[in-house]
Amino acid sequence: MSRSAHPAGPRHADVLPEGRSAAPADDLNALDPKVWARTVGRDADGVVTVGGLPVTRLAEEYGTPAYILDEADFRERARAWRTAFGADADVFYAGKAFLSRAVVRWLHEEGLNLDVCSGGELATALSAGMPAERIAFHGNNKSPEEIERAVRAGVGRIVLDSFQEIVRVAHIAESLGRRQRVQIRITVGVEAHTHEFIATAHDDQKFGIPLAGGQAAEAVRRALKLDGLEVIGIHSHIGSQIFDMSGFEVAAHRVVGLLKDIRDEHGVELPEIDLGGGLGIAYTSDDDPREPHEIAKALTEIVTRECEAARLATPRISVEPGRAIVGPTAFTLYEVGTIKPLDGLRTYVSVDGGMSDNIRTALYDAEYSVALVSRTSDAEPMLVRVVGKHCESGDIVVKDAFLPGDLAPGDLVAVPATGAYCRSMASNYNHVLRPPVVSVRDGAARVVVRRETEEDLLRLDVG
Ligand SMILES: *Cc1c(COP(=O)(O)O)cnc(C)c1O
Repeated sequence: MSRSAHPAGPRHADVLPEGRSAAPADDLNALDPKVWARTVGRDADGVVTVGGLPVTRLAEEYGTPAYILDEADFRERARAWRTAFGADADVFYAGKAFLSRAVVRWLHEEGLNLDVCSGGELATALSAGMPAERIAFHGNNKSPEEIERAVRAGVGRIVLDSFQEIVRVAHIAESLGRRQRVQIRITVGVEAHTHEFIATAHDDQKFGIPLAGGQAAEAVRRALKLDGLEVIGIHSHIGSQIFDMSGFEVAAHRVVGLLKDIRDEHGVELPEIDLGGGLGIAYTSDDDPREPHEIAKALTEIVTRECEAARLATPRISVEPGRAIVGPTAFTLYEVGTIKPLDGLRTYVSVDGGMSDNIRTALYDAEYSVALVSRTSDAEPMLVRVVGKHCESGDIVVKDAFLPGDLAPGDLVAVPATGAYCRSMASNYNHVLRPPVVSVRDGAARVVVRRETEEDLLRLDVG
């Protein structure tokens, strides 16, 4: 995926990416429910609406670019995960996908737990009233200050990621007179991406402690001896944007194998197993994600079967979806600024944002779709590349898409499925101001993260 040539490379203009059909959709005005938030539609004038509000009005009121977040959709998806996994499992929303205080409150109200992986995310969670015991603290290099804050706050679990951290967390907890609940993150030699998984002998990546060579078993051995720690389980996270469950199957098999070894060696059955996140969403109409209830059924069956074979009581399962909850619930609203047809190649459509609000295309070669949303059009489709306003030729938002041939400056276009890893990865490159996140619900809109201002920029620059 990310190993292919950069889209802005020297030959970038002459080929369509493999596997992507070069044909436009039958109706460019249609909005595929797979990629758009659930309350999105078009009104009688052809203007796209969300949460009952036309995007033209949202643009007028809040400006562009803006992330528009469908609160009802977010809550429904969160609830669907919660319901699918039921009372015997926990759903931790991965805050790194997108975190704001409004989102924390919605998650709290819908009965979800929350993953954080920095002091900033922890502060956001606590300031919005997420009970500390429902927070899990992640990361491969938590600072001693972050660990101390998490322990003091009383987070439900810290996920230990290295041998050093086992000792570090134990020491801090003990010095505070606490016994911290922890999971140990292991790497099981499986890496999953989209439609396949790769079984690797060695885990060449920075997260977790390898199962290989008995390292994970040794980590558990050490952690169990430390008074400051209560080891509650094993954690495994195998990848991102995954559609195929077979990677989870291999991971669960190996995690349960470790639980069995722990039981045999130490006489303890660890009560929890966390299978991480990484479930895929539809970025384009070509993607077919699974529903939460299918995922819950598959994961529960896998773990139950593996535990029966190992004669272990089935542990409490937790999962950590980020993208699968928030990704589909937002779109980015842009205004078209310039349109540059390059003869025989394609047409470049420049919008008023770019890689500062969506780095995923440049970073991962991610695919998105785009639609004209301020009106409908019957004009012939034209092949476009939607680009941003940054001083960088890799500043691409949508590599290849069709938009109506009568597209004009001032039109509004929107890129769906930008709820995850867009605002949370946004930058100030070129001193471009980060867009607001506007949530809509039942005909009302509300800014949940405001637009950055030049004063914000200058406040950090102390001169
Ligand atoms: C990133 C991450 C997640 C969430 O991944 P998604 O692809 O957004 O579901 C869950 N758990 C851990 C440990 C992660 O690092």
